Amino acid sequence: MSAVFDLTAELIRRPSVTPDDVGCQALLAERLARVGFTVEHLRYGEVDNLWATHGEGGPLLMFLGHTDVVPTGPVGQWQSDPFEPVVRDGHLYGRGAADMKGSVAAMAVALEQFVTAHPDHRGRVGFLMTSDEEGPTNLDGVRRVAEHLRSTGERIDWCVVGEPSSKTTLGDLIRVGRRGSLSGTLTVHGVQGHVAYPEKAKNPIHAFAPALAELAAERWDEGNADFPSTSFQVSNLNAGTGASNVIPGTLTALINFRYSTASRAEDLRARTEAMLSKHGLDYRIDWNLSGEPFLSPAGGALRDTVVDVCRELCGIEPEQSTGGGTSDGRFIAPLGAEVVELGPVNATIHKVDECVLVSDLEKLPSLYQAICERLLG
Ligand SMILES: [Zn+2]
Repeated sequence: MSAVFDLTAELIRRPSVTPDDVGCQALLAERLARVGFTVEHLRYGEVDNLWATHGEGGPLLMFLGHTDVVPTGPVGQWQSDPFEPVVRDGHLYGRGAADMKGSVAAMAVALEQFVTAHPDHRGRVGFLMTSDEEGPTNLDGVRRVAEHLRSTGERIDWCVVGEPSSKTTLGDLIRVGRRGSLSGTLTVHGVQGHVAYPEKAKNPIHAFAPALAELAAERWDEGNADFPSTSFQVSNLNAGTGASNVIPGTLTALINFRYSTASRAEDLRARTEAMLSKHGLDYRIDWNLSGEPFLSPAGGALRDTVVDVCRELCGIEPEQSTGGGTSDGRFIAPLGAEVVELGPVNATIHKVDECVLVSDLEKLPSLYQAICERLLG
């Protein structure tokens, strides 16, 4: 089999559920060091991060990915061991095959081939891996590395993220930006009491219901040329003691905005709080801004290059999207980098029987290598 297939299989065999790296980064570091990369291991808390670079000066083209995977879910529902790579019907199966050990291996192989073919290439190429992309907080992963890079004055021009961006065929969709994510934990205070004596209690469910209806119906913005309109969702709503004869004393709700560059987080916060206050609620809300929106505008060198590479090597006109969830690109974009995501088909990510088409996997290194050639060759 090919270098990219073998390396992907080796990575899948390591059960690197967040934040455990299980030696994935050591394996990648060793390979890149062998072709002349300077390697730095940045461990923060329980999280392993790897930063490897080749070349001198600028511009700097970074490849970004993660070696951690999400848990398997019920192993009995998998057709084969999730940590034993198996090929069936032209697909390589295993946890992380698509998200994103396949693209991690492809980026590493592409960089090996690029620096071997062009030992004196222009500027620098970089390879940044974390073992904390899939976790709930991402505190010690790329967020911390980005702080480190900022403190050392590192300038990143372009960042290719290997997240599985494609919808049905390789290269049919690239991500050129991401919506921001703003979460809130809302507590509405009432007064607990007997359901038969509502005049002596204050029901927080009844108090919140009209405010929730208004929040859910609100049109937060109209979006813009690059982003769909901002969405508001309640993900959790809890109140009640379990007893049918008790009015609860409090209600909690977890809310989330996926917002475009047409809105600002502070405005969404203020508008939400104004609505809650208008309905006379006694409440507290704790906000968490997990990522600002970012956009790599049309006409940027990286975005144009990735589009060209998809056209020429995949024979497809890629959709240039800002949809989907957040990615670690959100920590790199604020350093001034143009960020574009290109990776395999995402149909099975986080699912039972996660897989990647072997022919897509075999093709991926040539896409990443072409990006290097065009920007730094
Ligand atoms: Zn991922």
